Amino acid sequence: MKKKIIVIGSGFGGLGAASRLLSAGHDVTILEKRDKLGGRAYVYEMNGFKFDGGPTVITAPFMFDDIFEAAGKKREDYVEFVPCDPFYRIFDAEGKHFDYNNDQEFVLDEIRKRNPKDADGYQKFFNTTKAIFQKGFVELADQPFLKFSDMLKVAPDLIKLQSYKSVYKYVSQFIEDDFLRRCFSFHPLLVGGNPFDTTSIYAMIHYLEREWGVHYAMGGTGAIVNALEKLIREQGGTIYTETEVDEILVNGGKATGVRLQNGETLEADEVVSNADVAFTYKNLINPKHRKKYTDKKIERTKYSMSLFVIYFGTRKRYLDSGLAHHNIILGERYKGLLEDIFHKKRLSDDFSLYLHMPTITDPSMAPEGHEAFYVLSPVPHLDADVDWNEMAPRYRNAIMNFLEENYLPDLQENLVAEHYIDPLHFKDVLNSYKGSAFSVEPILTQSAWFRPHNKSEDIDHLYFVGAGTHPGAGLPGVLSSSIIAENLIGKA
Ligand SMILES: Cc1cc2nc3c(=O)[nH]c(=O)nc-3n(C[C@H](O)[C@H](O)[C@H](O)COP(=O)(O)OP(=O)(O)OC[C@H]3O[C@@H](n4cnc5c(N)ncnc54)[C@H](O)[C@@H]3O)c2cc1C
Repeated sequence: MKKKIIVIGSGFGGLGAASRLLSAGHDVTILEKRDKLGGRAYVYEMNGFKFDGGPTVITAPFMFDDIFEAAGKKREDYVEFVPCDPFYRIFDAEGKHFDYNNDQEFVLDEIRKRNPKDADGYQKFFNTTKAIFQKGFVELADQPFLKFSDMLKVAPDLIKLQSYKSVYKYVSQFIEDDFLRRCFSFHPLLVGGNPFDTTSIYAMIHYLEREWGVHYAMGGTGAIVNALEKLIREQGGTIYTETEVDEILVNGGKATGVRLQNGETLEADEVVSNADVAFTYKNLINPKHRKKYTDKKIERTKYSMSLFVIYFGTRKRYLDSGLAHHNIILGERYKGLLEDIFHKKRLSDDFSLYLHMPTITDPSMAPEGHEAFYVLSPVPHLDADVDWNEMAPRYRNAIMNFLEENYLPDLQENLVAEHYIDPLHFKDVLNSYKGSAFSVEPILTQSAWFRPHNKSEDIDHLYFVGAGTHPGAGLPGVLSSSIIAENLIGKA
Protein backbone atom coordinates (compact mmCIF):
# COMPACT_ATOMS: atom_id res chain seq x y z
CA MET A 1 0.00 0.00 0.00
CA LYS A 2 1.33 3.43 -0.95
CA LYS A 3 2.15 5.28 2.25
CA LYS A 4 2.52 8.93 3.11
CA ILE A 5 5.96 9.21 4.71
CA ILE A 6 7.60 12.17 6.43
CA VAL A 7 11.40 12.22 6.72
CA ILE A 8 12.66 14.64 9.39
CA GLY A 9 16.11 15.93 8.41
CA SER A 10 18.20 15.75 5.25
CA GLY A 11 21.54 14.27 6.30
CA PHE A 12 22.76 11.42 4.11
CA GLY A 13 20.66 8.96 6.15
CA GLY A 14 17.53 11.03 5.45
CA LEU A 15 18.33 11.61 1.77
CA GLY A 16 19.12 7.91 1.25
CA ALA A 17 15.89 6.85 2.98
CA ALA A 18 13.79 9.39 1.05
CA SER A 19 15.06 8.26 -2.35
CA ARG A 20 14.80 4.57 -1.49
CA LEU A 21 11.24 4.95 -0.17
CA LEU A 22 10.28 6.85 -3.33
CA SER A 23 11.77 4.00 -5.39
CA ALA A 24 9.63 1.63 -3.28
CA GLY A 25 6.56 3.52 -4.50
CA HIS A 26 5.72 5.75 -1.51
CA ASP A 27 4.82 9.41 -1.21
CA VAL A 28 7.75 11.12 0.60
CA THR A 29 8.19 14.58 2.12
CA ILE A 30 11.50 15.79 3.61
CA LEU A 31 11.36 18.45 6.34
CA GLU A 32 14.72 20.13 6.95
CA LYS A 33 15.42 22.73 9.60
CA ARG A 34 18.30 24.47 7.78
CA ASP A 35 18.17 26.52 4.58
CA LYS A 36 19.99 23.82 2.59
CA LEU A 37 20.08 20.03 2.56
CA GLY A 38 22.95 17.80 3.68
CA GLY A 39 23.00 18.02 7.49
CA ARG A 40 26.62 17.64 8.53
CA ALA A 41 27.48 17.79 4.81
CA TYR A 42 26.19 21.39 4.59
CA VAL A 43 28.29 23.55 2.23
CA TYR A 44 29.58 26.96 3.32
CA GLU A 45 30.08 29.26 0.33
CA MET A 46 32.07 32.45 0.79
CA ASN A 47 34.23 34.75 -1.35
CA GLY A 48 34.25 32.28 -4.22
CA PHE A 49 35.25 29.30 -2.03
CA LYS A 50 33.14 26.21 -1.44
CA PHE A 51 33.81 24.45 1.86
CA ASP A 52 32.31 21.03 2.56
CA GLY A 53 31.14 21.31 6.16
CA GLY A 54 31.59 17.69 7.17
CA PRO A 55 32.28 14.41 5.35
CA THR A 56 35.09 14.53 2.79
CA VAL A 57 36.30 10.91 2.66
CA ILE A 58 34.00 8.80 0.46
CA THR A 59 34.35 5.06 1.11
CA ALA A 60 32.03 2.35 -0.31
CA PRO A 61 30.95 4.56 -3.25
CA PHE A 62 28.76 1.74 -4.59
CA MET A 63 26.29 2.57 -1.81
CA PHE A 64 25.47 5.80 -3.66
CA ASP A 65 25.35 3.96 -6.99
CA ASP A 66 22.72 1.60 -5.50
CA ILE A 67 20.41 4.49 -4.55
CA PHE A 68 20.45 5.82 -8.12
CA GLU A 69 20.07 2.35 -9.58
CA ALA A 70 16.99 1.66 -7.44
CA ALA A 71 15.48 4.79 -9.02
CA GLY A 72 16.37 3.55 -12.51
CA LYS A 73 19.20 6.11 -12.91
CA LYS A 74 22.97 6.10 -13.12
CA ARG A 75 24.99 7.84 -10.43
CA GLU A 76 27.65 8.82 -13.01
CA ASP A 77 25.07 11.02 -14.77
CA TYR A 78 24.69 13.08 -11.59
CA VAL A 79 28.08 13.22 -9.83
CA GLU A 80 31.64 12.10 -10.57
CA PHE A 81 33.81 10.22 -8.06
CA VAL A 82 37.60 10.17 -8.36
CA PRO A 83 39.99 7.98 -6.33
CA CYS A 84 42.43 9.63 -3.88
CA ASP A 85 46.07 8.50 -3.72
CA PRO A 86 47.37 8.37 -1.05
CA PHE A 87 44.25 7.66 0.97
CA TYR A 88 45.79 9.56 3.86
CA ARG A 89 49.12 11.23 4.66
CA ILE A 90 49.73 10.82 8.38
CA PHE A 91 52.30 13.06 10.07
CA ASP A 92 54.00 12.26 13.36
CA ALA A 93 54.83 14.89 15.97
CA GLU A 94 58.19 15.58 14.22
CA GLY A 95 56.46 16.21 10.87
CA LYS A 96 57.66 12.95 9.25
CA HIS A 97 54.91 11.33 7.25
CA PHE A 98 53.50 7.90 6.42
CA ASP A 99 51.28 7.39 3.36
CA TYR A 100 48.95 4.52 2.57
CA ASN A 101 46.74 3.53 -0.33
CA ASN A 102 45.43 0.20 -1.69
CA ASP A 103 48.72 -0.91 -3.24
CA GLN A 104 49.96 -3.62 -0.86
CA GLU A 105 53.64 -3.32 -1.91
CA PHE A 106 53.58 0.45 -1.49
CA VAL A 107 52.06 0.16 2.00
CA LEU A 108 54.60 -2.50 3.01
CA ASP A 109 57.47 -0.26 1.80
CA GLU A 110 56.10 2.64 3.81
CA ILE A 111 55.89 0.38 6.87
CA ARG A 112 59.45 -0.93 6.35
CA LYS A 113 60.76 2.66 6.33
CA ARG A 114 59.40 2.99 9.87
CA ASN A 115 59.93 -0.46 11.29
CA PRO A 116 60.90 -3.38 8.98
CA LYS A 117 59.66 -5.89 11.57
CA ASP A 118 56.09 -4.60 11.21
CA ALA A 119 55.70 -5.50 7.52
CA ASP A 120 54.81 -9.11 8.38
CA GLY A 121 52.59 -8.07 11.26
CA TYR A 122 50.68 -5.69 8.99
CA GLN A 123 50.01 -8.47 6.48
CA LYS A 124 48.63 -10.64 9.27
CA PHE A 125 46.53 -7.76 10.62
CA PHE A 126 45.16 -6.98 7.16
CA ASN A 127 44.30 -10.62 6.49
CA THR A 128 42.35 -10.93 9.75
CA THR A 129 40.35 -7.75 9.05
CA LYS A 130 38.84 -9.46 6.00
CA ALA A 131 36.76 -11.78 8.21
CA ILE A 132 35.76 -8.86 10.46
CA PHE A 133 34.71 -6.85 7.42
CA GLN A 134 32.73 -9.80 6.00
CA LYS A 135 30.78 -10.25 9.21
CA GLY A 136 30.58 -6.64 10.47
CA PHE A 137 29.91 -4.86 7.19
CA VAL A 138 28.77 -7.23 4.46
CA GLU A 139 26.54 -9.42 6.64
CA LEU A 140 25.35 -7.23 9.51
CA ALA A 141 25.49 -3.50 8.68
CA ASP A 142 22.22 -3.42 6.75
CA GLN A 143 20.33 -5.89 8.96
CA PRO A 144 17.96 -4.59 11.63
CA PHE A 145 18.73 -5.70 15.20
CA LEU A 146 15.21 -5.49 16.60
CA LYS A 147 15.19 -8.60 18.80
CA PHE A 148 17.67 -9.72 21.45
CA SER A 149 17.74 -13.10 19.68
CA ASP A 150 19.23 -11.28 16.63
CA MET A 151 22.14 -10.35 18.89
CA LEU A 152 22.48 -13.85 20.37
CA LYS A 153 22.73 -15.32 16.87
CA VAL A 154 25.82 -13.25 16.06
CA ALA A 155 27.44 -13.38 19.50
CA PRO A 156 29.62 -16.47 18.82
CA ASP A 157 31.05 -14.85 15.68
CA LEU A 158 31.69 -11.59 17.51
CA ILE A 159 33.60 -13.46 20.21
CA LYS A 160 35.58 -15.41 17.62
CA LEU A 161 36.52 -12.14 15.93
CA GLN A 162 37.75 -10.72 19.28
CA SER A 163 35.20 -7.91 19.25
CA TYR A 164 35.67 -7.59 23.03
CA LYS A 165 39.11 -6.07 22.35
CA SER A 166 39.50 -2.39 21.49
CA VAL A 167 40.74 -1.42 18.04
CA TYR A 168 44.05 -0.25 19.52
CA LYS A 169 44.56 -3.48 21.42
CA TYR A 170 43.65 -5.51 18.35
CA VAL A 171 46.12 -3.63 16.12
CA SER A 172 48.85 -3.82 18.78
CA GLN A 173 48.79 -7.65 18.63
CA PHE A 174 50.27 -7.38 15.15
CA ILE A 175 52.14 -4.06 15.04
CA GLU A 176 54.99 -3.02 17.31
CA ASP A 177 55.89 0.54 16.32
CA ASP A 178 53.98 3.11 18.35
CA PHE A 179 53.40 5.49 15.44
CA LEU A 180 52.26 2.68 13.10
CA ARG A 181 49.86 1.47 15.79
CA ARG A 182 48.32 4.94 15.68
CA CYS A 183 48.18 4.89 11.85
CA PHE A 184 46.15 1.67 11.82
CA SER A 185 43.99 2.38 14.84
CA PHE A 186 42.76 5.98 14.36
CA HIS A 187 39.80 4.88 12.20
CA PRO A 188 37.13 4.74 14.95
CA LEU A 189 37.63 8.50 15.33
CA LEU A 190 36.09 8.85 11.87
CA VAL A 191 32.82 7.55 13.32
CA GLY A 192 33.04 9.12 16.78
CA GLY A 193 34.82 6.36 18.70
CA ASN A 194 37.89 6.27 20.91
CA PRO A 195 40.33 3.66 19.47
CA PHE A 196 41.01 2.56 23.07
CA ASP A 197 37.32 1.85 23.78
CA THR A 198 35.70 1.05 20.45
CA THR A 199 35.15 -2.61 19.61
CA SER A 200 37.72 -4.10 17.25
CA ILE A 201 34.89 -4.67 14.75
CA TYR A 202 35.76 -1.13 13.66
CA ALA A 203 39.18 -2.34 12.50
CA MET A 204 37.20 -3.26 9.38
CA ILE A 205 37.17 0.42 8.29
CA HIS A 206 40.76 -0.03 7.12
CA TYR A 207 39.75 -3.12 5.13
CA LEU A 208 36.78 -1.25 3.67
CA GLU A 209 39.12 1.53 2.48
CA ARG A 210 41.43 -1.01 0.87
CA GLU A 211 38.53 -2.96 -0.70
CA TRP A 212 36.77 -0.06 -2.47
CA GLY A 213 39.25 2.82 -2.20
CA VAL A 214 38.96 6.33 -0.78
CA HIS A 215 37.16 8.66 -3.16
CA TYR A 216 36.41 12.32 -3.60
CA ALA A 217 33.31 13.72 -5.31
CA MET A 218 34.22 16.35 -7.90
CA GLY A 219 32.68 19.62 -6.75
CA GLY A 220 32.96 18.35 -3.17
CA THR A 221 30.68 16.20 -1.03
CA GLY A 222 28.10 18.96 -1.57
CA ALA A 223 27.88 17.74 -5.18
CA ILE A 224 26.54 14.40 -3.85
CA VAL A 225 23.94 16.26 -1.77
CA ASN A 226 22.90 18.24 -4.90
CA ALA A 227 22.77 15.01 -6.93
CA LEU A 228 20.49 13.34 -4.37
CA GLU A 229 18.29 16.44 -4.15
CA LYS A 230 17.88 16.42 -7.96
CA LEU A 231 17.12 12.69 -7.94
CA ILE A 232 14.53 12.99 -5.14
CA ARG A 233 12.76 15.85 -6.94
CA GLU A 234 12.76 13.85 -10.20
CA GLN A 235 11.26 10.92 -8.28
CA GLY A 236 8.40 13.19 -7.18
CA GLY A 237 9.54 13.74 -3.58
CA THR A 238 8.61 16.97 -1.78
CA ILE A 239 11.29 18.94 0.04
CA TYR A 240 10.79 21.76 2.53
CA THR A 241 13.83 23.60 3.93
CA GLU A 242 13.75 26.07 6.84
CA THR A 243 11.03 23.83 8.25
CA GLU A 244 11.70 22.63 11.78
CA VAL A 245 9.69 19.84 13.37
CA ASP A 246 8.62 20.68 16.91
CA GLU A 247 6.82 17.46 17.83
CA ILE A 248 6.14 14.00 16.49
CA LEU A 249 2.41 13.43 16.99
CA VAL A 250 1.52 10.17 18.69
CA ASN A 251 -1.92 8.66 19.03
CA GLY A 252 -2.58 5.29 20.66
CA GLY A 253 1.15 4.47 20.65
CA LYS A 254 1.47 5.25 16.90
CA ALA A 255 3.19 8.15 15.14
CA THR A 256 0.54 9.93 13.10
CA GLY A 257 2.42 12.97 11.80
CA VAL A 258 4.34 16.03 12.97
CA ARG A 259 3.73 19.51 14.26
CA LEU A 260 6.05 22.17 12.87
CA GLN A 261 7.50 25.10 14.77
CA ASN A 262 5.02 27.42 13.03
CA GLY A 263 2.17 25.37 14.53
CA GLU A 264 1.14 23.67 11.30
CA THR A 265 0.50 19.91 11.48
CA LEU A 266 1.22 17.35 8.76
CA GLU A 267 -0.21 13.84 8.80
CA ALA A 268 1.74 10.74 7.85
CA ASP A 269 1.41 6.96 7.83
CA GLU A 270 5.09 6.58 8.75
CA VAL A 271 7.60 9.02 10.23
CA VAL A 272 11.33 8.53 9.65
CA SER A 273 13.55 10.64 11.89
CA ASN A 274 17.01 11.51 10.62
CA ALA A 275 17.38 14.08 13.39
CA ASP A 276 19.74 12.96 16.17
CA VAL A 277 18.08 10.00 17.95
CA ALA A 278 18.65 11.35 21.47
CA PHE A 279 17.31 14.75 20.42
CA THR A 280 14.30 13.15 18.72
CA TYR A 281 13.28 11.15 21.80
CA LYS A 282 14.02 13.92 24.29
CA ASN A 283 12.70 16.95 22.44
CA LEU A 284 10.26 15.79 19.77
CA ILE A 285 8.29 13.14 21.69
CA ASN A 286 6.18 13.84 24.72
CA PRO A 287 7.66 11.90 27.72
CA LYS A 288 4.28 10.23 28.35
CA HIS A 289 4.82 8.18 25.14
CA ARG A 290 8.37 7.06 26.07
CA LYS A 291 8.77 3.88 28.11
CA LYS A 292 12.34 2.90 27.18
CA TYR A 293 13.84 6.19 26.03
CA THR A 294 13.17 8.16 29.18
CA ASP A 295 15.22 11.31 29.84
CA LYS A 296 17.26 9.23 32.33
CA LYS A 297 18.13 6.57 29.75
CA ILE A 298 19.08 9.29 27.26
CA GLU A 299 21.33 10.95 29.86
CA ARG A 300 22.96 7.60 30.80
CA THR A 301 23.91 6.81 27.19
CA LYS A 302 27.48 7.65 26.18
CA TYR A 303 27.94 10.09 23.31
CA SER A 304 30.79 10.58 20.87
CA MET A 305 33.16 13.52 21.05
CA SER A 306 32.50 16.85 19.41
CA LEU A 307 34.65 18.70 16.87
CA PHE A 308 36.13 22.13 16.33
CA VAL A 309 36.39 22.81 12.58
CA ILE A 310 37.93 25.81 10.81
CA TYR A 311 37.17 26.32 7.10
CA PHE A 312 39.67 28.68 5.48
CA GLY A 313 40.82 29.90 2.09
CA THR A 314 44.12 31.48 1.11
CA ARG A 315 45.00 33.81 -1.76
CA LYS A 316 48.06 31.72 -2.54
CA ARG A 317 48.47 28.05 -3.32
CA TYR A 318 50.36 25.62 -1.07
CA LEU A 319 51.13 22.88 -3.58
CA ASP A 320 54.76 22.64 -2.39
CA SER A 321 53.81 22.34 1.29
CA GLY A 322 54.22 18.56 1.35
CA LEU A 323 50.53 18.09 2.15
CA ALA A 324 48.19 15.60 0.47
CA HIS A 325 44.43 15.80 -0.07
CA HIS A 326 43.64 14.07 3.27
CA ASN A 327 46.18 14.71 6.06
CA ILE A 328 46.24 13.58 9.65
CA ILE A 329 48.61 15.47 11.91
CA LEU A 330 49.22 13.55 15.12
CA GLY A 331 50.61 15.22 18.21
CA GLU A 332 52.95 13.76 20.85
CA ARG A 333 50.14 12.34 22.96
CA TYR A 334 47.67 9.75 21.67
CA LYS A 335 46.15 7.74 24.52
CA GLY A 336 46.39 10.66 26.96
CA LEU A 337 44.77 13.09 24.53
CA LEU A 338 41.92 10.66 23.80
CA GLU A 339 41.53 10.10 27.54
CA ASP A 340 41.09 13.87 28.00
CA ILE A 341 38.52 14.07 25.19
CA PHE A 342 36.44 10.97 25.94
CA HIS A 343 36.82 10.33 29.68
CA LYS A 344 38.09 13.37 31.55
CA LYS A 345 36.06 15.70 29.30
CA ARG A 346 38.86 18.24 29.39
CA LEU A 347 39.96 20.53 26.57
CA SER A 348 43.73 19.97 26.27
CA ASP A 349 46.29 22.53 25.13
CA ASP A 350 47.64 20.03 22.57
CA PHE A 351 45.68 18.54 19.68
CA SER A 352 45.74 16.10 16.77
CA LEU A 353 44.27 17.36 13.51
CA TYR A 354 42.71 16.25 10.25
CA LEU A 355 43.60 18.74 7.49
CA HIS A 356 41.59 18.68 4.28
CA MET A 357 43.07 20.24 1.13
CA PRO A 358 40.53 19.51 -1.64
CA THR A 359 41.98 22.00 -4.13
CA ILE A 360 44.84 19.52 -4.73
CA THR A 361 42.31 17.30 -6.54
CA ASP A 362 39.68 19.87 -7.46
CA PRO A 363 40.78 23.51 -7.96
CA SER A 364 37.12 24.44 -8.64
CA MET A 365 36.59 24.57 -4.85
CA ALA A 366 38.42 27.95 -4.74
CA PRO A 367 38.90 30.97 -7.02
CA GLU A 368 41.83 30.57 -9.43
CA GLY A 369 45.22 30.68 -7.71
CA HIS A 370 43.64 30.16 -4.27
CA GLU A 371 43.65 27.17 -1.93
CA ALA A 372 40.72 25.82 0.15
CA PHE A 373 41.22 23.95 3.43
CA TYR A 374 39.47 22.74 6.48
CA VAL A 375 41.10 21.67 9.70
CA LEU A 376 39.32 19.61 12.32
CA SER A 377 40.23 18.92 15.93
CA PRO A 378 38.34 16.37 18.08
CA VAL A 379 37.24 18.01 21.36
CA PRO A 380 35.07 16.83 24.27
CA HIS A 381 31.31 17.22 23.96
CA LEU A 382 29.37 19.70 26.07
CA ASP A 383 29.67 17.77 29.35
CA ALA A 384 33.11 19.43 29.49
CA ASP A 385 33.32 22.59 31.51
CA VAL A 386 34.25 24.84 28.56
CA ASP A 387 32.64 28.16 27.69
CA TRP A 388 32.93 27.94 23.92
CA ASN A 389 31.81 31.54 23.40
CA GLU A 390 34.97 32.59 25.16
CA MET A 391 37.23 29.67 24.20
CA ALA A 392 36.51 29.35 20.45
CA PRO A 393 38.61 32.34 19.23
CA ARG A 394 41.53 31.24 21.44
CA TYR A 395 41.33 27.65 20.26
CA ARG A 396 41.13 28.88 16.66
CA ASN A 397 44.30 30.97 17.15
CA ALA A 398 46.20 28.05 18.66
CA ILE A 399 45.41 25.82 15.66
CA MET A 400 46.09 28.47 13.02
CA ASN A 401 49.40 29.44 14.67
CA PHE A 402 50.40 25.77 14.77
CA LEU A 403 49.58 25.31 11.08
CA GLU A 404 51.43 28.50 10.14
CA GLU A 405 54.55 27.51 12.08
CA ASN A 406 54.66 23.90 10.88
CA TYR A 407 52.84 23.42 7.57
CA LEU A 408 51.50 26.58 5.93
CA PRO A 409 54.03 29.47 6.05
CA ASP A 410 52.52 33.01 6.10
CA LEU A 411 49.08 31.45 6.44
CA GLN A 412 47.40 34.22 8.37
CA GLU A 413 48.46 37.11 6.12
CA ASN A 414 47.10 35.16 3.14
CA LEU A 415 43.68 34.30 4.58
CA VAL A 416 40.80 35.58 2.46
CA ALA A 417 37.92 33.45 3.80
CA GLU A 418 37.31 31.86 7.17
CA HIS A 419 34.53 30.34 9.24
CA TYR A 420 34.60 28.02 12.24
CA ILE A 421 32.18 25.77 14.13
CA ASP A 422 32.38 24.42 17.69
CA PRO A 423 30.34 22.04 19.91
CA LEU A 424 27.64 24.70 20.32
CA HIS A 425 27.04 24.55 16.56
CA PHE A 426 26.39 20.81 16.80
CA LYS A 427 23.93 21.38 19.64
CA ASP A 428 22.15 24.51 18.44
CA VAL A 429 22.22 24.28 14.65
CA LEU A 430 22.25 20.50 14.10
CA ASN A 431 20.15 19.63 17.17
CA SER A 432 22.71 17.13 18.47
CA TYR A 433 22.39 16.11 22.09
CA LYS A 434 25.38 17.40 24.13
CA GLY A 435 26.85 18.83 20.90
CA SER A 436 28.16 15.41 19.94
CA ALA A 437 29.46 15.25 16.36
CA PHE A 438 28.67 11.54 15.76
CA SER A 439 25.78 10.88 18.19
CA VAL A 440 25.73 7.65 20.29
CA GLU A 441 29.32 6.49 20.96
CA PRO A 442 30.22 3.30 19.04
CA ILE A 443 31.20 0.98 21.89
CA LEU A 444 30.23 -2.71 22.04
CA THR A 445 27.53 -2.12 24.68
CA GLN A 446 25.93 0.51 22.42
CA SER A 447 26.17 -1.43 19.14
CA ALA A 448 23.70 -3.50 17.09
CA TRP A 449 20.75 -4.54 19.33
CA PHE A 450 22.13 -2.34 22.14
CA ARG A 451 21.97 0.77 19.91
CA PRO A 452 18.70 2.71 19.48
CA HIS A 453 16.77 0.56 17.00
CA ASN A 454 15.92 1.60 13.45
CA LYS A 455 12.27 0.94 14.34
CA SER A 456 11.33 2.81 17.50
CA GLU A 457 11.06 0.63 20.59
CA ASP A 458 8.51 3.06 22.07
CA ILE A 459 6.33 4.17 19.18
CA ASP A 460 4.87 2.31 16.20
CA HIS A 461 5.29 3.73 12.70
CA LEU A 462 8.39 5.66 13.78
CA TYR A 463 11.77 4.78 12.26
CA PHE A 464 15.29 6.09 12.67
CA VAL A 465 18.04 6.61 10.11
CA GLY A 466 21.41 8.31 10.64
CA ALA A 467 24.39 8.26 12.94
CA GLY A 468 22.69 7.49 16.28
CA THR A 469 20.86 4.34 15.22
CA HIS A 470 22.20 0.98 13.94
CA PRO A 471 24.79 0.55 12.46
CA GLY A 472 26.24 4.02 13.26
CA ALA A 473 27.99 7.14 12.00
CA GLY A 474 29.94 7.69 8.78
CA LEU A 475 28.49 7.66 5.29
CA PRO A 476 28.49 3.84 4.82
CA GLY A 477 26.79 3.52 8.24
CA VAL A 478 24.03 6.08 7.71
CA LEU A 479 23.38 4.82 4.15
CA SER A 480 23.07 1.28 5.58
CA SER A 481 20.45 2.58 8.03
CA SER A 482 18.46 3.94 5.09
CA ILE A 483 18.42 0.46 3.51
CA ILE A 484 17.13 -0.98 6.80
CA ALA A 485 14.37 1.65 7.03
CA GLU A 486 13.27 0.92 3.47
CA ASN A 487 13.16 -2.83 4.15
CA LEU A 488 11.22 -2.39 7.40
CA ILE A 489 8.61 -0.13 5.79
CA GLY A 490 8.41 -2.26 2.66
CA LYS A 491 7.20 -1.64 -0.86
CA ALA A 492 3.96 0.15 -1.79
C1 LIG B 1 33.28 17.50 10.41
C2 LIG B 1 32.86 16.09 10.08
C3 LIG B 1 33.61 15.34 9.19
C4 LIG B 1 33.21 14.05 8.84
N1 LIG B 1 33.94 13.35 7.91
C5 LIG B 1 33.46 12.18 7.44
C6 LIG B 1 34.07 11.56 6.31
O1 LIG B 1 35.04 12.09 5.76
N2 LIG B 1 33.53 10.40 5.85
C7 LIG B 1 32.44 9.82 6.44
O2 LIG B 1 31.99 8.76 5.96
N3 LIG B 1 31.85 10.39 7.51
C8 LIG B 1 32.31 11.57 8.00
N4 LIG B 1 31.68 12.18 9.05
C9 LIG B 1 30.50 11.53 9.64
C10 LIG B 1 29.28 11.74 8.77
O3 LIG B 1 29.33 13.02 8.20
C11 LIG B 1 28.01 11.65 9.57
O4 LIG B 1 27.98 10.48 10.36
C12 LIG B 1 26.79 11.66 8.66
O5 LIG B 1 26.90 12.64 7.64
C13 LIG B 1 25.56 11.91 9.50
O6 LIG B 1 24.42 11.79 8.69
P1 LIG B 1 23.01 11.66 9.32
O7 LIG B 1 22.17 10.92 8.33
O8 LIG B 1 23.08 11.12 10.69
O9 LIG B 1 22.40 13.13 9.35
P2 LIG B 1 22.98 14.56 9.78
O10 LIG B 1 24.02 14.96 8.83
O11 LIG B 1 23.26 14.59 11.22
O12 LIG B 1 21.69 15.45 9.47
C14 LIG B 1 20.57 15.52 10.30
C15 LIG B 1 19.69 16.63 9.77
O13 LIG B 1 18.51 16.72 10.56
C16 LIG B 1 18.13 18.09 10.64
N5 LIG B 1 17.25 18.27 11.79
C17 LIG B 1 17.54 18.07 13.11
N6 LIG B 1 16.46 18.31 13.87
C18 LIG B 1 15.45 18.67 13.02
C19 LIG B 1 14.10 19.06 13.22
N7 LIG B 1 13.55 19.10 14.44
N8 LIG B 1 13.36 19.37 12.13
C20 LIG B 1 13.89 19.32 10.88
N9 LIG B 1 15.18 18.97 10.65
C21 LIG B 1 15.94 18.65 11.71
C22 LIG B 1 19.46 18.79 10.82
O14 LIG B 1 19.37 20.18 10.49
C23 LIG B 1 20.33 18.02 9.82
O15 LIG B 1 20.27 18.60 8.54
C24 LIG B 1 32.06 13.48 9.43
C25 LIG B 1 31.31 14.22 10.36
C26 LIG B 1 31.70 15.51 10.67
C27 LIG B 1 30.85 16.29 11.64
